[in-house]
This record gives sequence, C-alpha cells and structure tokens, in this order.
Amino acid sequence: MTATAVPLFGDLAAAKPVKETWRAAQLRRIAQGVHPLHGLPLAGNGETCRTCAHRVVLRMGGTYHKCAAIDMTHGAKTDVRLSWPACKAWVEATDPMPRTVSMKS
Ligand code: SF4
Repeated sequence: MTATAVPLFGDLAAAKPVKETWRAAQLRRIAQGVHPLHGLPLAGNGETCRTCAHRVVLRMGGTYHKCAAIDMTHGAKTDVRLSWPACKAWVEATDPMPRTVSMKS
C-alpha cells in the first residue's frame, strides 16, 4: 500500500499572489536603498524629506507635502512623507517653514 500526499491548503502553486500594500511597497523600496516617491538612491545622510528645501506644501482642502524636484500631481501618489529618508537630490532647507504652492487644475 502506498501513501498519497493530500495538500492541506489546496494547490499553492495556483494560488493568487498576495497584492503588496502601498505601505509595504514603500518600506521595501526604502530597504532596497531607493526613495519611495521616485526611486532615486537614498542620500544616507540621516536627513529626511522634512528638512529638504524641495519639500513644499500644497493646500487644497487639506495639507499635502510634495516634492518640487519632480512633477507634482493632485494625487496622493506624489505626496511625500516627512519621515521618509532623504534622497540624493536632498538640499538643506534654510527656512524651517516650507514654501506653499498652488497648482492649476
Ligand atoms: S528631493 Fe527632497 S523632498 Fe524630494 S524626495 Fe528627495 S529628499 Fe524628499
């Protein structure tokens, strides 16, 4: 008599891959040494987007932090998190208050 393996959890090879959350993708990119916003290499200088001269504030029914070094959109995909590690384009902000910008729709 021979034993037959019975998969306990079904056919794992045919299982749908789990979709990576946005937050998990951000953390993965940081761990890989690239900035989550645009993929530039991290500066590794201990600074964050909070202290960068390129960080600007967009006020449109809320306050959104954006990076002026790239093309901005109204969407959340171009928001920067103040806690993100600085990228290679980081420039020290001379004014602690970020510049406020407006965007034409
Ligand atoms: S340029 Fe400055 S604000 Fe933009 S992603 Fe790099 S560190 Fe952040």
